[in-house]
Amino acid sequence: MISRKILRGLRVASLRPSLNNLASRVNSDLGSTLASGGHKNGTLSEGRRGVHGQATEYLPNNYPDFTESQSMVRGAIADVCSGFDDGYWSQIESEHRFPSEFYNAVAKDGWLGICLPEKYGGSDLGVSEAAVMTQTISESGGGMAGASSVHINIFGLEPVRKFGTEEQKQRMLVPLINGKERACFGVTEPNTGLDTLKLQSRAVKDGDHFVLSGSKIWISTAQVAEKILILVRTTPLEEVSKPSQGLSLFYTDLDRSQVDITEIPKMGRAAIDSNQLFFDGWRVPKEDLIGEVDNGFKMIMHGMNAERILIGAEALGLGYAALRKASIYAQERSVFGRPIGQNQAIQHPLAESWMQLEAARLMIYQAAKLYDAGHATGEYANAAKYLAAEAAFHACERAIMVHGGMGYAKEYHVERYLREVFIPRIAPVSREMIFNYIGERVLGLPKSK
Ligand SMILES: Cc1cc2nc3c(=O)[nH]c(=O)nc-3n(C[C@H](O)[C@H](O)[C@H](O)COP(=O)(O)OP(=O)(O)OC[C@H]3O[C@@H](n4cnc5c(N)ncnc54)[C@H](O)[C@@H]3O)c2cc1C
Repeated sequence: MISRKILRGLRVASLRPSLNNLASRVNSDLGSTLASGGHKNGTLSEGRRGVHGQATEYLPNNYPDFTESQSMVRGAIADVCSGFDDGYWSQIESEHRFPSEFYNAVAKDGWLGICLPEKYGGSDLGVSEAAVMTQTISESGGGMAGASSVHINIFGLEPVRKFGTEEQKQRMLVPLINGKERACFGVTEPNTGLDTLKLQSRAVKDGDHFVLSGSKIWISTAQVAEKILILVRTTPLEEVSKPSQGLSLFYTDLDRSQVDITEIPKMGRAAIDSNQLFFDGWRVPKEDLIGEVDNGFKMIMHGMNAERILIGAEALGLGYAALRKASIYAQERSVFGRPIGQNQAIQHPLAESWMQLEAARLMIYQAAKLYDAGHATGEYANAAKYLAAEAAFHACERAIMVHGGMGYAKEYHVERYLREVFIPRIAPVSREMIFNYIGERVLGLPKSK
């Protein structure tokens, strides 16, 4: 477990390998930077300072704006990821199976509860560090599959942390953090989509239980999860004064004898299943209700800005991974007697992608910093997710074009990246809804139709 205390130095010895790696990487970059008169490959003019690693480097850890704890997380997660290369992610994609080996490695090193309290086995770090974790997993080649395998651990049980009883926290958080239980997140419904407040699944109190009926769609990891955090309506829409009222949140067993789970065949991220759920008369113990009845929407909103920041970081990682592949290929592939990267038509779009990714990175870590400082970060979290997803999409698309025909071959992995990068453009909130949010909340314009 890596916690705030450890980062303050109490168990620094256990991090020594990561620190040493970090220090040697920084030193060797610095050495070659000085030797080249400004940049490690001498590509910048004499006397200028290069603060950023090369885009061809695997998981560079010399971001000048990272805090010590962010650099530490970057180094430690990079160590875990180095055991799982593109070949691994490609294989589990073709075998269509959950990346258990990766998940267990992350759990073993205590990272599954990065944002959850130390008392329950977590690390009690902020979204600023968690974003580094998700970016790094994705950037390693794990992409959205790697990040999604641990995603719910990071933000998902925020409502339990915040509103659960002590008994619930012990019962729910501990097995999630130590990797013994996996969870999924059930909000989206087939008939109502992004109009979450109109969701139709119902829960009716019956003695010591609530009885749930309805359906959910796109629920990630429901094939392998033992638990679900689910939002349902407990008071009909017609009987509440505001649509955000009357919804309740449960964290409960995903009981396959009571819930029908059907996988949705889809475009990418095959290793992480997506599902439709049907339930009619599903009995859920009242002890699994989180917080007050009818107050679930407020509770679920709690983790949403963090989730947007983390998904933005996942997109960002994928964008850097694509740019890395494209930059390497553009140096190595020669046609017409010169490396293809010498052609401006190849070089300039990649340079533009780097700038777009860096701009999104600054926005993501700014949003995370504001979130950790306790600010309401709706506009920053939404904008960061949008910018990162778009920048990553362009990087992935360009990576395919740089590879020419080989971009279409599985061997070079960039086609997998492109299929996965659509996810952060669509979920958990679409681009259009982000524009609506900024239009209404920041620009003060009328509610968009
Ligand atoms: C791979 C994947 C994994 C997912 N995992 C989960 C999960 O684990 N749990 C979960 O609960 N959900 C999950 N989702 C669902 C995801 O959050 C939704 O797909 C997303 O929120 C979009 O909702 P929708 O698909 O119903 O789109 P719809 O609501 O049907 O919208 C369709 C299109 O219309 C646009 N649109 C709708 N209303 C407006 C408007 N007012 N103004 C402008 N444009 C509008 C949207 O932007 C979108 O482009 C996942 C989705 C995917 C693809």
